[in-house]
Amino acid sequence: MLIVIMGPPGAGKGTQAEKLAKEFALPHISTGDIFRSAVKEGTEMGKKAKEYMDKGMLIPDEIVIGIVKERLSKPDCSAGVLLDGFPRTVEQAEALDEVLDELQLKISAVVNVDVHEEELIGRLTGRRVCRNCGATYHLKFNPPKVRNICDHCSGELYQRSDDTIDTVKERLAIYQKQTFPIIEYYEHQDLFKNIDGARDIDAVFADLADHLKKTKD
Ligand code: ADP
Ligand code: ADP
Ligand code: ZN
Repeated sequence: MLIVIMGPPGAGKGTQAEKLAKEFALPHISTGDIFRSAVKEGTEMGKKAKEYMDKGMLIPDEIVIGIVKERLSKPDCSAGVLLDGFPRTVEQAEALDEVLDELQLKISAVVNVDVHEEELIGRLTGRRVCRNCGATYHLKFNPPKVRNICDHCSGELYQRSDDTIDTVKERLAIYQKQTFPIIEYYEHQDLFKNIDGARDIDAVFADLADHLKKTKD
């Protein structure tokens, strides 16, 4: 089962992808996480990626596509995968189709977590992430048991440098311009399902899981 989870920044893609990956026993591939690891490791690619991420801009297609292609070619992806945060441009969506053709894989479903802009701003500016394991929290909507400490690994929580109000606004504008058009691309292929993301985490998850269970692999 190959699932693409999409939606604007802050919609809850990462939160839901983590739960869905467990439920359906699929590897969770988040391009955002891949780039943040590269930044942390200080690789050449990480240095380049950071310049774009700090401005809230998308990383150029050729870089992103190369990385996803390499990752999808690994053996753990042959039975299925959960793609989170990719594709983000129509060019990436087209490249994904080509890569999947080569690997003889096919998208099973594209789910879009739909949330209005005001809510997104609140979610993004209140987001906190574990420095150690990457788990995601929210100051108000999904707080850790102990302030600033990760429930899973006791790591320290931090605020992503691109979750400040100005960068958030830039990311939302870029989403509208560059990512939103993908919806039409997938609607044409009859793969697309919109899910109301402006509800609590468990309600959104129940809807997503329900839809995906009905999807053939
Ligand atoms: P969000 O929480 O906004 O959905 P992500 O963690 O998915 O953010 O991505 C963070 C940043 O990483 C993006 O703003 C962008 O700079 C870069 N990035 C992640 N995925 C992609 C992609 N598919 N194409 C281009 N840039 C990407
Ligand atoms: P994305 O990967 O789409 O950028 P995240 O999963 O990181 O989004 O969620 C963004 C922020 O909103 C996080 O702080 C997360 O804890 C919180 N969040 C996620 N889903 C919900 C929800 N359904 N209701 C309220 N807050 C949520
Ligand atoms: Zn942790």
